[in-house]
Amino acid sequence: MAALPTLFLSHGSPMTAIEPSATHDFLKGLGSAIPRPTAILCISAHWETARPRLTGSLKPELIYDFHGFPKELYQLRYPAPGSLQLVGRAATALANKGFACDIDPSRGLDHGTWDPLYLAYPAADIPVVQLSIQPAATTDHHLAVGRALRPLRDEGILIVGSGNATHNLRAWRGATAPTPEWVTRFSTWLDDRVLAGDGGVLCRYRTEAPFAVENHPTEDHYLPLLVALGAAGDGARATKIHAGYDGVLDMASYQFA
Ligand code: ZN
Repeated sequence: MAALPTLFLSHGSPMTAIEPSATHDFLKGLGSAIPRPTAILCISAHWETARPRLTGSLKPELIYDFHGFPKELYQLRYPAPGSLQLVGRAATALANKGFACDIDPSRGLDHGTWDPLYLAYPAADIPVVQLSIQPAATTDHHLAVGRALRPLRDEGILIVGSGNATHNLRAWRGATAPTPEWVTRFSTWLDDRVLAGDGGVLCRYRTEAPFAVENHPTEDHYLPLLVALGAAGDGARATKIHAGYDGVLDMASYQFA
């Protein structure tokens, strides 16, 4: 079995799942662009815990972790099964590198996971397990968590980091608003470092990237990128698989293989 790539996806607004956009179209074509995985491990920006935590439900429900959106979005269903086999594999891989993790039997999938997967794998027939981020921990921790998961790539498991290349919602003025220079300057920096596969400098982005704090006032949507990069392993080649801006949101997505 050929190793699967790992992905970092900018998921954007929860409306991405049902509203036409360039990102919507990109995600719709994603499933057929890569080998079919046996299971998916998704690291979502929207699940924050003190230490790594995995969804242990065999029938994970959807979490509608947003307010004030159209009714249609709350009626969306994505009945992908969970997988205790994948939970076991991920927990073992993490433990092998010294990361204790927890298993949450009741937690469902938030929109960081279901928004892209609803489009990429609409049949919902591939088991999905979600993994949390640890915003109180360092960027290095997230790269190391990713590295610990590297063996899963060889087992048909697709590792997806779901966040956003930039994510300042306070500055949000709509998807068609002009993209300011403080966003594009950060994006250019990010693109160069991601495509170079420079995990070290990406971990130091807060001090090295222009306008890092403006683009990521909190780190939650950046950290899944480091997990995806780490999970690809040393020497993986990065490819930009989607580019575009929705106002202040850089919607870039990357593949590591
Ligand atoms: Zn989000």
